[in-house]
Amino acid sequence: MPRVLLLPGDGVGPEVTDAARGVLEAVVRRFGVDLDFDEGLIGGASIDACGSPLADDVLERARACRAVLLGAVGGPRWDPLPVDARPEKGLLRIRKELGLFANLRPARVFPALVGASTLRPEVVEGIDLLVVRELTGGIYFGEPRGIALVDGRREARNTMVYDEVEIARIARVAFEAAGRRRRELCHVHKANVLEVSQLWVMVVEEVAKDYPEVRLSHQLVDSMAMLLLRSPRDYDVIVTANLFGDILSDEAAMITGSLGMLPSASLGEGGIGLYEPVHGSAPDIAGRDAANPLAAILSAAMLLEHSLDAPEAARAVREAVAGVLSDGHRTADLVPAGDATPISGCRAMGDHVVAKLEAA
Ligand code: NAD
Repeated sequence: MPRVLLLPGDGVGPEVTDAARGVLEAVVRRFGVDLDFDEGLIGGASIDACGSPLADDVLERARACRAVLLGAVGGPRWDPLPVDARPEKGLLRIRKELGLFANLRPARVFPALVGASTLRPEVVEGIDLLVVRELTGGIYFGEPRGIALVDGRREARNTMVYDEVEIARIARVAFEAAGRRRRELCHVHKANVLEVSQLWVMVVEEVAKDYPEVRLSHQLVDSMAMLLLRSPRDYDVIVTANLFGDILSDEAAMITGSLGMLPSASLGEGGIGLYEPVHGSAPDIAGRDAANPLAAILSAAMLLEHSLDAPEAARAVREAVAGVLSDGHRTADLVPAGDATPISGCRAMGDHVVAKLEAA
């Protein structure tokens, strides 16, 4: 039976992970999806228990699972620790050890939250796009790199480098994702200037031959930055290199409004997926049942789609979230200051989603 490792972590992590687990358990009951759970420590909670932000045995248990659902790590309590011993190291280590080279960040505007965006409602209404970012290559990792003294001047250097295997594998992830969605893929690049991007265009075109059902387009990254603000609805899946994806995925995410709504998935060659909300451990509201669990719940929906091959269950979870929002349920982060809308706690919001799912 496929197993999911829950790593709730710190701060609001345990609260939102608990709500997401409740939704996955409802999916097991409602859709007959086979699934069981393991649970472990990561981040500050793990440092407190065993002195390390990610113990070897937790990593081994992750390798034995189909997927990992993570809450968040970190908090002021562990801030005085040296960088190498901090909670975030646990997260970086598990991503690296599991070889997670593909980061998927959907940006979707729920009809009930159209007013929460900084863009005009007629621009944001209906946005449903997915940024697929290459996560383990490109200029963030390329060698040579560093700052040196050359002819008496400080000189800095980074290297953007990709080989065709790295490009082809992320392209496949993006084509597969597009195939499960509206079958449109936009490759974002800077091929008018960069040879690296020219190779991306070539390899993405080659991979496209295996996915004739997906319509492929190419777009320069500078134009894309504008087009995402002008007509974000026009895009389904976007695939791009690490640097461009870092910037565009934040831009796309912000269009949709609250941090408490944004899920993510990181996928790799080992077949294990890591799913986590984009937000951090929110220590300012931790332990008060005030967190928005929807990013974690939507991360669980991504887990159903990408790791458990249960797209219908994933869709049902997303529809349940949309339904709960259109019924008017709101956590505090979704209510503008001074607004009199009644507020649901983290647990109640999770329960609303479960009830919607069970009534569907
Ligand atoms: P944060 O995302 O934790 O919080 C930023 C703001 O958003 C806060 O006001 C918080 O209350 C709010 N917020 C975040 N998630 C929310 C939710 N689910 N519901 C309602 N409101 C929410 O970012 P931060 O304050 O910069 O960082 C706090 C800690 O989290 C730090 O230790 C940081 O290193 C860590 N962090 C972890 C991750 C991760 O685990 N992936 C990501 C970012 C930050």
